[in-house]
Amino acid sequence: MLTPAEAAKTITSGLRPKPQEVLAIEEALGRVLAVDITSPIDLPNRDNSSMDGYAARSEDVRGKCPVVLQIIEHIPAGTLPTQEVTAGNCARIFTGAPIPEGADCVIRQEDTSDQTTDSVRIDGDRDAGKNIRRRGEDLRKGAVVLETRTPLSPAHIGVLASTAHSDVPVFGAPRIAVMPTGDEVVDLEEKEKILAGTKIGSSNTYTMLSMVREAGGVPIRMGIAKDDPEDVRRRFQSAAESSDLIVTSGGVSVGDHDHLRTVFEELGGEIKFWRIRMKPGKPVAFGVLNDTPWIGLPGNPVSTMVTFELFVRPAIRVMLGYEKPFRATSQFRVGEKISLPSERTQFLRAYVGQTESGPVATTTGPQGSGILNSMSKADALIIVPQGKKEVAAGEMVRGIFLNQPLHIENCPY
Ligand code: AMP
Ligand code: MG
Repeated sequence: MLTPAEAAKTITSGLRPKPQEVLAIEEALGRVLAVDITSPIDLPNRDNSSMDGYAARSEDVRGKCPVVLQIIEHIPAGTLPTQEVTAGNCARIFTGAPIPEGADCVIRQEDTSDQTTDSVRIDGDRDAGKNIRRRGEDLRKGAVVLETRTPLSPAHIGVLASTAHSDVPVFGAPRIAVMPTGDEVVDLEEKEKILAGTKIGSSNTYTMLSMVREAGGVPIRMGIAKDDPEDVRRRFQSAAESSDLIVTSGGVSVGDHDHLRTVFEELGGEIKFWRIRMKPGKPVAFGVLNDTPWIGLPGNPVSTMVTFELFVRPAIRVMLGYEKPFRATSQFRVGEKISLPSERTQFLRAYVGQTESGPVATTTGPQGSGILNSMSKADALIIVPQGKKEVAAGEMVRGIFLNQPLHIENCPY
C-alpha cells in the first residue's frame, strides 16, 4: 500500500499542463501564464508630475525665493502641454500630468501663494529639481513584466491592463468528469425519493462539482452510475471521451457491488494503485484509460472530500499549469487529547481558533467518515502520522488549512 505522498506523486507525475489558450484578461483570473509577458511601452509613458503645483525651472527658484513666476498654461492630468517653460515662467500642473518642455521640477502648491490667473509667488525652493516621475521608471519597454507560469492574481491582471495586453496566453482549464456511484443515492432531480426515505441524497455529486470549480477545473456531470457493470461501463467510456480527468466516488472497495475497478480493467484501463495507507480514504484508486486518468475516491462523503482535497485538487492544479500544486502544511497546537491509534496516516477534521498562545485546533466531533457535519465545520485537517498512538492536549501537530493560499511543489503529507 502506498503512503499518501507516494500516491500523490504517482498521480501528479504523469500529468501535464493543458495546451495553452488565449483569454481576455478579465476571464484570466486564477489561470497560469503560458508565456513571458513583455511591456510594449515605457511606464510611465512620459515624465509626469507627482504633485499638484507648478512646473518650473530649478534655476529660477533655487536661492531666489520668494519669487513671482508667470503662468503660461494649465495642464490637468490627461492633457498634453503645448508650450515650453522659459525663464521666469511656469505652468500650473496636476498629479499625473506630463511635464512641459523646459521645466525640470514641480513646486508643490503648499509652497506658493498669491496665485492670480497670470502669476504665482513661489515661497520656498525645497522642490527645486524634484517631483517628476521619470518615463520608464516603473517599467522599461521590452522588459519582462510577468514570467511564464505566474498564476494570475488581480494585481497581475492590473499589470497586463497597464501594459495594454487585452488578451493573454494561459494554460487551458481541465475538464473533470464527475461520476458518483451507488444504487442508494440520487441527485436532487429525484428529491421526492430522498424526502420519502427510499433513497439518500448524493451529497458527493454536489461536493465534487463544487470542489472541481473551486480548484479551477471545469466540471462535467456524468450522472450517478448504478451498481451495475453495464451502466458503469457506458458512463466510464463516455467520461473518458469527454474529459481530461475522471473522478468517481464509491464502488472501489471490495464489496460485491463495487464494480469500478473490474469494469475499468475490462475497458483496457490500467490500474496503478487502488489503496492508500491513510484514514479516512483507504480505498482510493488511480488508473489510466486511453490516456485519460481516473481517480476513484471512496463513497463516504467525508472520505470523498478529504481525498479530493489531497489528491484530486493537486491533479487539477498541475493540469492548469501550477508549478506548486500542494497546499503548505502549518503547525498548530491541539486543544484536546486525541487517541485514535492507527497503522495508517490520519487526517482529522478540525477547526482552528486563535488564542493568546497561537492557533489551537479542536476536532469537529465524531470522526466517522460518513459524518459530513465533521467536514462542514472544519477549516483544517490535522495530520496524525501512522503508528502514533496518541496526541496529548497542547501538543504541536502538523496540519493543513483548507483555505491555505500558500502552495508548494512537493506533497507535504
Ligand atoms: P461505497 O464506497 O460505494 O461502498 O460507499 C460508502 C458509503 O458512502 C455508503 O454508505 C454510501 O451510501 C455512501 N455514499 C456513496 N456514494 C455517495 C454519494 N454520492 N453521496 C452520499 N453518500 C454516498
Ligand atoms: Mg457504493
